[in-house]
Order: sequence, then structure tokens, then C-alpha cells
Amino acid sequence: MGADGEPLCGKVYLVGAGPGDPELLTLRAFRVLGLADAVLYDHLVNSEIVGLARRGAQRIYVGKERSNHTLPQHEINHLLIKLARRGHQVVRLKGGDPFIFGRGGEEIETLALCGVPFEIVPGITAASGVAAYAGIPLTHRDCAHACVFVTGHLKDGSVDLDWQALARPLQTIVVYMGLLSLPKLCQELITHGLPQTTPAAVIQQGTTAAQRVVTGTLVTLPAKVARARLKPPALIIIGEVVRLHARLAWFNVSIDRFDTALAAPA
Ligand code: SAH
Repeated sequence: MGADGEPLCGKVYLVGAGPGDPELLTLRAFRVLGLADAVLYDHLVNSEIVGLARRGAQRIYVGKERSNHTLPQHEINHLLIKLARRGHQVVRLKGGDPFIFGRGGEEIETLALCGVPFEIVPGITAASGVAAYAGIPLTHRDCAHACVFVTGHLKDGSVDLDWQALARPLQTIVVYMGLLSLPKLCQELITHGLPQTTPAAVIQQGTTAAQRVVTGTLVTLPAKVARARLKPPALIIIGEVVRLHARLAWFNVSIDRFDTALAAPA
């Protein structure tokens, strides 16, 4: 109880954990993890990051793998409220940024309705973190004046996007949750006017030691990705900027590649 007899309420911190590499955590995220009484996290969050929580903090896995929701959303919301009302400092850790395809808005709305204090700590979203580690600038003065983020998540087995708006020149398209719909995405973009030769890439587990990058064109990429057996989490980047990967790749690049480049005659 507080001095005025009111029950003490804790606070919920909705924290973006970034795309994978723990070094990409914000200073604010690092600090609130250090004071947490409880941490709720899902499968996209690196275990090293969960390990940064205060010693003795309760760690609760709430799942959220595709079609395998360990705890339904309303139960997660309920748990956050229950813990905060016990006076706990609760950290809700989400992959990337909580407000980008992270349902952060829904969780916070319930807290706001119930009068539970909260704070939102932004994180580096997969698009910017993964693109940076893949050496693919999302905009470029010569070839990309705009960048759009969309979800390729299948609803009832189909992807429902504004293809006309996506198939514009001088635009980079970043697709979250799009691995399963890659063939359909490429096909629709060609049908709606993007050149077949438009470069595109799929990056699996970007920013981590397991990062893999497969590049191709709208025509060749689906088969290349299937052959490479890429798995989620994976991000698709489509647009002329993908060509820069060949020159700008820096992370997880094998020494061989540099040796070959150095050995090549000028
Ligand atoms: N809120 C998160 C996105 C959650 S949706 C963010 O801001 O990044 C989950 C999707 O994000 C995955 O299906 C994948 O498309 C993408 N993603 C997240 N982390 C990734 C990573 N390390 N490498 C590639 N894609 C990633």
C-alpha cells in the first residue's frame, strides 16, 4: 500500500529488443532490463538479451511462433496487468520495434484502459538492422526515394496487398513475415509492372552469427531461396538498392571473399 492507502502499482515497459544482435539494444532497454521484476518475452528475442534481466527477475516465455501461440494475446495482456498491480516492474520484450508489426499497440491499449502505467522503449526494427548488416541501404539518391514496410503474412492462404502502389519505380519494398508468400509476391509485382530483372534479397536471421543472404531477381529468387532452404525469421528486400549488397556486404563475409578480391588483378 502507498502512504494514502492506495495499492502501489508497478509499471509495464514495452521494450523493443532489436533484430537479434544484443549489441543493438538501446541504452534505455538495457537499463530497464536491469531493474525488472518480471520479463515476458517471445521467440524472436535472443536469449542473451533475456539474460540481461536483473538477477532474480522472473522470466516468462509467452511464445508467438507462427501458428504456435504459447499464450493467447488476451492472456498476455491479463498477465501484464496482474503483475503490474502487484507492484512489479514488468518488461515486455518484443523483437525489433514493438510498434512495427509487433502488436505493441494492442497490448498498450489494454494497459491504458485499465489505468496501468506504461512506457514504450523503441527498438531497431528488422528492416533497418537487417538491411544494415546485409549491406543494403534502404534508400539511395540514385535508385530509391521511398521505402515501404509491408507484411507478407498469409491470411486465409492469400496475401492481400496494394500491388499497384508497391510496383512503383524508385521504391524499396521491405516484406516482414513474407517467406511463405515469396513466389506470389514476386509474381504479383511483375504482373503489376516491375521489371523481371528487379533485384531482390531474402535475409535469414539477420544481424546474428547465423545470418544468410540470398540474392536474385523477381524471377530467380523464389527458386534460389527454396534451394537454400531458408527459414524464418527472414526479411525480403526488393528494389535496385539490393545490387549494392555485392559491394557493401561486411558482416559474416568470409575471409575467402576478401582474399579473392585482393588477389584479383586491378
Ligand atoms: N517488431 C518486429 C517485427 C515482428 S514480425 C520488428 O520491428 O522487427 C516478425 C518478422 O520480422 C519476421 O517474420 C521477419 O520477417 C522479421 N524479422 C525479425 N527479426 C529478423 C531477423 N533477425 N532477420 C530477418 N528477419 C527478421
